[in-house]
Amino acid sequence: MSTKRELTVELGERSYPIYIGEGLIDEAGELFAKHGISKKSPLLIITDDEVAPRHLAHLNDVLSGAGFKVSTAIVPAGESSKSLAKLEELVTQALQAGLDRKSAIVALGGGVVGDLAGFVAASYMRGVKFVQVPTTILAHDSSVGGKVAVNHPLAKNIIGAFHQPELVLYDLLTLQTLPQRQISAGLSEVVKHGLIWDAEFVAWCDDHAEQLCALDHEALSYALYKGCSVKAAVVSEDERENGLRAILNLGHTIGHALEAVAGYNELLHGEAISIGMIGSARLAVALGAPEEIYNVTKRVLTKVGLPIRLPAHLDTDAIMEAMQHDKKFQEGTMVFIVPAAIGKVEINTQVSASLVREIVEQLKQEA
Ligand code: NAD
Ligand code: ZN
Repeated sequence: MSTKRELTVELGERSYPIYIGEGLIDEAGELFAKHGISKKSPLLIITDDEVAPRHLAHLNDVLSGAGFKVSTAIVPAGESSKSLAKLEELVTQALQAGLDRKSAIVALGGGVVGDLAGFVAASYMRGVKFVQVPTTILAHDSSVGGKVAVNHPLAKNIIGAFHQPELVLYDLLTLQTLPQRQISAGLSEVVKHGLIWDAEFVAWCDDHAEQLCALDHEALSYALYKGCSVKAAVVSEDERENGLRAILNLGHTIGHALEAVAGYNELLHGEAISIGMIGSARLAVALGAPEEIYNVTKRVLTKVGLPIRLPAHLDTDAIMEAMQHDKKFQEGTMVFIVPAAIGKVEINTQVSASLVREIVEQLKQEA
């Protein structure tokens, strides 16, 4: 049995705990009760159709056994479920299940289910309690910060809210069923949290990449703990995204553009961000930072199984165009999160678009 870890996301009266450990779903009854989830009002577990056959019965049994009134709703797996249409369907299900103001919505799944269920919780009866039971590595990122949203056909995550959970329950056993590609994609944001904040943690990832890819519980538990801790530290200082929180976007300016141009099927988010972080490292070096930034970034991302080369068939003009839609773009220059050292980034508001174009071209040659 690996160590059970716990951290608190410090947000004043909205503070909440994240529990990380092996077999934690077995303790869901006690933990839910401890954090004020009602046994009198019905709760709704929202999950997707890939997670449901693997983990829903377990959570349902534990909570029902502990005396909670449980209903469940299953949405199709994938980003397309983050829609207003799904939100409406889920509200229908919540009403039919008799959820009231004291009820809770439980997200069992990855970031898609977390964002969708979180937005249901934020909007149902003007807001009910929310619990996250993340089942992907990537969801360590979405479990901190309280951003919940659905997509609009014209823009991702554009209809949403800030809604903090009551608790997050990360059971490492659920991660054992993740496909390898999803494991690596999730580790991308783990490494990102190191790169923006904690050089020692980057070195640790470098040394433990193999264990992480093999889902070794001790390694995974530490990595999720560190990833959540860094995000929590950033978010605690800037809950509503006024400043510091921008550093979480390392690799995302290029990454989002790649996702948009490639279509959301070719590259997973974590894969696009990996390529984006290589781009940021190249940018840093081009602006005079030590070569080591690029070397270490590339080594660690490669070791955890992530792509570093930008697929050559993606059109550079289209990528540049997509970045200019990015809210971080300003006339002729771009705002970029640029590493200053491993574990430290700066917000550079003066990066020339022509340099970015060069970097994009270089990323197609990456080997
Ligand atoms: P996801 O939820 O789509 O999960 C990826 C795939 O893995 C899905 O097909 C899912 O069904 C499957 N899956 C999930 N858990 C599994 C398990 N234990 N075993 C087997 N299969 C499993 O994607 P994700 O990568 O977790 O999250 C991406 C989403 O998160 C995006 O919509 C993104 O916008 C959002 N996000 C939000 C925040 C935030 O702060 N709110 C931060 C980062 C990402
Ligand atoms: Zn991201």
